[in-house]
Amino acid sequence: MIYPEYIAEIIKRIEEHGERAYMVGGCVRDSLLGITPNDFDIAVSCPPEKTMEIFSDRHVIPTGLKHGTVTVVYDREIVELTTFRIDGSYTDSRHPDEVSFTNRIEEDLSRRDFTVNAMAYGLREGLVDIFGGREDLEARRIRAVGKPEVRFEEDALRILRAFRFSAQLGFEIEKETLIAAREKAEGLSRIARERIGVEFIKLLCSPDVSCALKQMKDSGVMCYVLGGYEPSIRIIDRLHSVLGSDISRLGFLLAEAEENEAREILHSLRCSTKQIKGALAVRRASRISVSDVISARRFIADTGVYWESGIVASVAYGSSPHDAIELTRRENSIPKNLSELKINGRKLMELGFCGKDIGRILGEILLRCVDEPTLNREEKLIELAMQYKKDE
Ligand code: ATP
Ligand code: MG
Repeated sequence: MIYPEYIAEIIKRIEEHGERAYMVGGCVRDSLLGITPNDFDIAVSCPPEKTMEIFSDRHVIPTGLKHGTVTVVYDREIVELTTFRIDGSYTDSRHPDEVSFTNRIEEDLSRRDFTVNAMAYGLREGLVDIFGGREDLEARRIRAVGKPEVRFEEDALRILRAFRFSAQLGFEIEKETLIAAREKAEGLSRIARERIGVEFIKLLCSPDVSCALKQMKDSGVMCYVLGGYEPSIRIIDRLHSVLGSDISRLGFLLAEAEENEAREILHSLRCSTKQIKGALAVRRASRISVSDVISARRFIADTGVYWESGIVASVAYGSSPHDAIELTRRENSIPKNLSELKINGRKLMELGFCGKDIGRILGEILLRCVDEPTLNREEKLIELAMQYKKDE
């Protein structure tokens, strides 16, 4: 397993104080897969107060003392240290009613959702893998830790997380886990919408989104995420071919929804104002056809800063032919006025032009660039200006 030096230092320091510490969860999974982890979470045997004491010479933030989490800023890196924990019972399918700390890493691992997320790595012990996470990684499989129906009843968000990890990693969901997801899907109606929104948008931006959404649709999970709206197979099949940003994917997903319905769904996923505005623009763009220069210009004016996501979505949906992307890109790169030229009056002065020549030359350059937008680069325009000078 590969990990940065500061993580080793943090773990060693905890061990020097007679406690134990492990890398856990996503970082172990990703590292074993050869993917660079987003962040390294550390599980520690001591209570949060002691963790704070151990790192009292650093900036320490008591992020969630009740849940055992302390954030340490270590050489500019931000690391979360969480006490080994057992989650209590769940009465609302949302949060454990209480958490209690434990001295055993095994107990901490058993509260985690999937086997591939339930591994720990210690500096001396190496991999701690009591649920067969490594085998599931090799088989490329998402499998619940323990009985899936019980785990999904405790926290129904895990159902959506199963599809999210399947889409992110390109893994299949193990049979029993998938059956339980279908059976317990209704629990998602009691989950906080912000939690659903976060997981669903991660899923949507993943490479294997089409496959995961198809399975969600077949398992009856989709309706708890999108309400009454069911994206067609055409949309689901082509989602992976639009740009991988949240805005592109949300917009394309909603291509067949009415504007008001789309807006409502975006609100229900707790999207930001920026996401809503962008997704609605891409949604509209998916249905617009670009076939010639005039329609490309109109398209750019209509979609504004979202023109690129929009044209890719329009091609993916089948509204525009494939070469509309190049056509729109070209139209967009045409400077519309002097201020969009990659050269200005000051630069021309530096080159030795003066007086009314400057305005005239800029005007001529603009006309040339309208015909040939690829010219609009500083070094090319300097060359062009120098030619005018020679010609005079
Ligand atoms: P990513 O790289 O996308 O952040 P991750 O595995 O770190 O992936 P997180 O959502 O950040 O995913 O969660 C961190 C870890 O906490 C998981 O690997 C898992 O062990 C555990 N976990 C998170 N949410 C749950 C949950 N709802 N139920 C059980 N365990 C969970
Ligand atoms: Mg994480």
